[in-house]
Formats: sequence, C-alpha cells, structure tokens
Amino acid sequence: MNSRDVFLKYLAQTSTDPLLIEVEKSDGIYLYGPDGNKYMDLISGIAVTNAGHRHPKVIQAIKDQVDRHLHVMAYGEFIQEPVNRFAVNLTSHLPENLKSVYFVNSGTEANEGAVKLAKRYTGRSEIVSFYHSYHGNTHGSLSISGNEEKKYAFRPLLPGIRFIHFNQDKELSDISRKTACVIVEPVQGDAGVILPENNFLKKLRKRCDDTGTLLIFDEVQTGFGRTGKLFAFEHFSVIPDIITLAKGLGGGLPLGAFISGYEIMQKLSHDPMLGHITTFGGNPVCCAAGNAALEVITEPEILNNIEAKGELFKKLLQNDKVVAIRQIGLMMAVEFKSEEIVQRIVHRCVEEGVITFYFLSNRRSLRIAPPLTITFDEIKIACSIIQEVFDEM
Ligand code: PMP
Repeated sequence: MNSRDVFLKYLAQTSTDPLLIEVEKSDGIYLYGPDGNKYMDLISGIAVTNAGHRHPKVIQAIKDQVDRHLHVMAYGEFIQEPVNRFAVNLTSHLPENLKSVYFVNSGTEANEGAVKLAKRYTGRSEIVSFYHSYHGNTHGSLSISGNEEKKYAFRPLLPGIRFIHFNQDKELSDISRKTACVIVEPVQGDAGVILPENNFLKKLRKRCDDTGTLLIFDEVQTGFGRTGKLFAFEHFSVIPDIITLAKGLGGGLPLGAFISGYEIMQKLSHDPMLGHITTFGGNPVCCAAGNAALEVITEPEILNNIEAKGELFKKLLQNDKVVAIRQIGLMMAVEFKSEEIVQRIVHRCVEEGVITFYFLSNRRSLRIAPPLTITFDEIKIACSIIQEVFDEM
C-alpha cells in the first residue's frame, strides 16, 4: 500500500477532499515532499509555525530539553525550569493583570479552562459569545462557538449561552449581571478575518466592567505576532481579564494557555481543589520550544516588519476576480464570489507549489497566514504565482 492509501484507510478522515500533501521535511517557509516537490507554506499549519518551520533556535531548545527530561508529572505539582522560564518570559509581555499562567495542550482546552475559571470566579453561569466565532471543538468550546453548521449534529450542547453579533453595539445590552464572561476573538479568525470597528472592543470592555462580567480574549489565532503585535489586544488598547493562547505558543509543538490575574486564577486551587486538571499541560519540551519561538518572534526585525509584509501581500493580491481583502498583519482573507472558486484556487496553488487554504466559517475566502519570517522577496514570488492562478478563474 502506498502512503496515500494508508493515510486514507488508517487515519480518521475529517473531509471528503483532503489536500494530501505528503511531507518529508520542513524548513523556514518551505515544505518538501518525498517526490522532490517543494511548497511555499502560506498558512503555517494554520497559524502555528509563526517563527517558521524548524527554526534553529527552536530546534536547539527542544534538543537541549530532551537531553534533560520529558514529562515528569501531571500539571501543577512539580517545579520545572523550562515551564517557569516560559511563564516569566511570556508574562513579561503582558499587562499587570495577566501574570498567572495555566498551561494546557490546545486552543480548545485553553478556552474550556478560561470559561470554567470565569464561572468559578463570578459564581455565575451564563456565557456570552459571538455569531461566527470559533473557539474549538470539544463540547464546551463547540457550545460557545458561533457556527451553527458545525454544531447542529452534536446537540444538546452546553446550556446558558447567548450569542450576539460582532461589531453590533446595541446587542451589548444582552450582557447582564447574570453573565459570567464574554468570550471573543479580538479579530474574528475563522469567520474570515473580521476586524472590530468603531471601538467595539472598548465598548465591550465597558459593558463587562458595568456588569461585573469577565472579558476573555481568545487570542489562539491572533496571538504570537500574527497581527503585527505580539497580542492583538495591543492594537485596540483593551485589556481582557483572561487571555487564551495556543497555536503559535508552542513554536510547532502542542501547547495552550489561559492567563489571568493571580486573584482570579487562584480560585482553581480550592473548592474544589484541582479546579482544572491536565496530565500533559505545560509539557517541558513544548515550553522550551515556545520560549525559543517567543524570542525569535520578538526580534525587532521580525515583529516590526509584519505589518509592512501584510500590506505588501494586500497590494500584490489585488485582482478583478477578488471581491475583498481583509488583513491585519500576516492574517489575511481574500474573498471571492463563491466557495467553488476558492476550492479551485487552493488546489491549483498546490499544483504550483504554494499552500493556501479556506476558512472554517467562511469558505468563500482564501486564507493566507504565512510564517512571520517570510521575506519581502518570498512574498513577491508567492503573489506572482497566486496571481496567475487568480487569472485562470
Ligand atoms: N480559538 C481560535 C480563535 C482558533 O482559531 C482555534 C483553532 N482554529 C481554536 C480556538 C482551537 O484551537 P485548537 O485547534 O488548538 O483546539
């Protein structure tokens, strides 16, 4: 059996049309197949390899930690130097009220933990979330996600969740003294890069303050430099009570986190104790990798050039076939008239050696989210290939 047939037979399939790119090696913005094929990766494993594939500093940190120890104990009992170090470095980039880190394994778990924490802290049970949001796929995170198409087959889900529309000021009145928390992506990612308008996040912050509701920013996708700042909330001058991170956080290894102030977080340590439990959360190898990736991303020549790189993409992707381009930093959605066009573009680009994708909740838009280390020259090459494909549509 060839590797393609093994994949299709032995690995659970989640789509009727997988890309089926076989990867043997990765390096920087490139993936290499066993057949000698070379691909420019413009999606970073969906916003994960922000520091590029196998950045030498990340690889070295992983190797160093592998030589010391791997997993030693479930979360929260033992003191491990790489985990301590990453918590200190990560929070040195966050405001005073976000200094207590709970490391978990993924984005969905980070959101599960954050919502549990908000319920525990406020003693309230209602949760407000947004239509078209995406917060993960375990039962709790699916319940608070706003894409009905992905939810209906799995009902009943969590009760007590209210959905409101992003950027609709009037609907903020649905947040009340019964609301434990509001969870929001500061830029909606899987909805197709929807930016907040007219100080919407400031108004949301105010409504939460007025009602004693905790504000959770899901920065799983927008975090770690993706939008041109280390965290997207920095663009909008609004600080959440809890921030959730994953994807790029582990530098290519699985890692998530929810971060709050000490007073809020300590509620998980009593009544009941072990208020959130994870065996693997904060794995020392993942934390070592994440710490190295953080150092790479915060180098000024990387972080300070993200916005200009995003603008270059935006300029070079203009085409008559394009309906709209929404962009912040290196998080971009290129919208077309139909889902079918995007499907054809994704497949044709792969044939031409460029990997793009669609968005979970907006299949009429093409996703572009390359490693933040991509160079201006690589952007020009990628865009000229993509433009030829656009012209075929
Ligand atoms: N929140 C957001 C904003 C995301 O984009 C995602 C993943 N697309 C998640 C949560 C879930 O992350 P994970 O797949 O690691 O569970």
